[in-house]
Amino acid sequence: MKCLIIDVVHEAIAQELGKYMEVKVSEKLPPAKDELKAMIGDVDVLIMRVDPMIDKEVLDAAKNLKVIGVCSVGLNHIDTKYAEEKGIKVFNAPGLNGNAVAELTICKMLELSRHTIPAHRDVTVNQKWDKYAFVGRELRGKTLGVLGFGRIGQRVGEIARVFGMKVVAYDPYLPAEIFTKNEATSMSIAQVCEVADFVTIHMPLNDETRNLFNATSIAEMKPDAVVLNMARGGIVNEKDMYEALKAGKIGGYATDVLENEVAGDGLTEDSRFYSPLFDLDNFVVSPHIGAQTVDASRDIGQHIIAKVKEALNL
Ligand code: NAD
Repeated sequence: MKCLIIDVVHEAIAQELGKYMEVKVSEKLPPAKDELKAMIGDVDVLIMRVDPMIDKEVLDAAKNLKVIGVCSVGLNHIDTKYAEEKGIKVFNAPGLNGNAVAELTICKMLELSRHTIPAHRDVTVNQKWDKYAFVGRELRGKTLGVLGFGRIGQRVGEIARVFGMKVVAYDPYLPAEIFTKNEATSMSIAQVCEVADFVTIHMPLNDETRNLFNATSIAEMKPDAVVLNMARGGIVNEKDMYEALKAGKIGGYATDVLENEVAGDGLTEDSRFYSPLFDLDNFVVSPHIGAQTVDASRDIGQHIIAKVKEALNL
């Protein structure tokens, strides 16, 4: 059998699966879709993260494929229905990177509250030592609004409560006892936006959530409230967000995801990787690093190894 690894994943996966099959690691991590199509013909096990898109074309090019092990949570980059039709099992790692994403969310809440990135730059680049330029605000006593109160949302709420924050949440798919157990008040999305000082988004991207956070949601918010998106680009309408930030309608936007993410060096063939958001002071971005901790990578690796072995009776 053959296993193809197309992204940076824990080394234990290649070591363990290597005992049962030939393991090849793609030269380019991750490869573009066409590059993957050219490599996947005789592969039995594909190990990947969130790139590239695994659509019908890729699945049809994979003549021997039996298992796809996805070392992340979201599956919106895979045509899972078509994979199922072809008898290909798809495994992800739900929950195992939740704490990593939750801690990054708190990191960004603190960043937008205390401005340590511009403060650092002011000292090291501008050669200034001006403590009065960076007056922040504390999390204690503020209200956190969580949109999508699943594993990550609940963990963010749990940590936020330690900071002395009140937690309100919107998740129409959860029973009331989940909110009670997590000491959170269940509200509509409009109510959350109205009362929260921080709104953090932790729902999947699908037809229902695409563009869910837009000018209408922003219009409900306090002018100094900030929004955090550690979920998926496309849930937040970036154009509406840009207009609102520029006009001072809200306090800031921190995100780990963009609508058009470009894997690798950020350069597309004919243009620079750019968003007008990049020019704003009250905007903070990171390149989809929510799950990038050694702890999460190790736990996910072990989970995917177990799933692949179980699926292939190894
Ligand atoms: P989860 O399934 O445990 O929780 C998602 C919650 O969203 C569920 O409770 C669900 O009921 C709720 N939801 C679904 N549709 C909704 C809607 N229309 N309105 C409000 N709530 C809705 O998932 P999770 O582990 O908490 O992860 C949440 C999301 O975070 C994932 O879907 C993924 O896209 C994203 N994520 C990002 C990173 C990263 O690196 N930044 C890493 C892991 C996960």
